[in-house]
Amino acid sequence: MPEPRYRSRSRRRVYKRTPGGRTVIHFEKKIPNWPKCGACGRRLNGVIRGRNIDFRKTPKTQKRPNRPYGGVLCPECMRKLIKDKVRYKFWRQKREQPWLPPLPGEEPPEPAEEESEE
Ligand SMILES: [Zn+2]
Repeated sequence: MPEPRYRSRSRRRVYKRTPGGRTVIHFEKKIPNWPKCGACGRRLNGVIRGRNIDFRKTPKTQKRPNRPYGGVLCPECMRKLIKDKVRYKFWRQKREQPWLPPLPGEEPPEPAEEESEE
């Protein structure tokens, strides 16, 4: 029988069969909750759930998906973020160089006689 402090309900009970045929209870620490997406809070797939010892024993390639923001954002949020980043990059480029062709969804600029400040 383990010490009383280990028999608390903050630990989970694991039933183990000993080589002698007895069944004993092991009191182990509880497993943390699933990793969540940093943007929408959805549960992440391809990510292991466990305590630090499990993370140390697992190869890196099995800990998170091998893509940008893998293990941090869910695939939808990652796609949205990358699209927004690319759009912002082009928008900035366009603002600095107004002679570039119009962006998709943007109206073509009217020929202006005078320089207008934007
Ligand atoms: Zn998400």
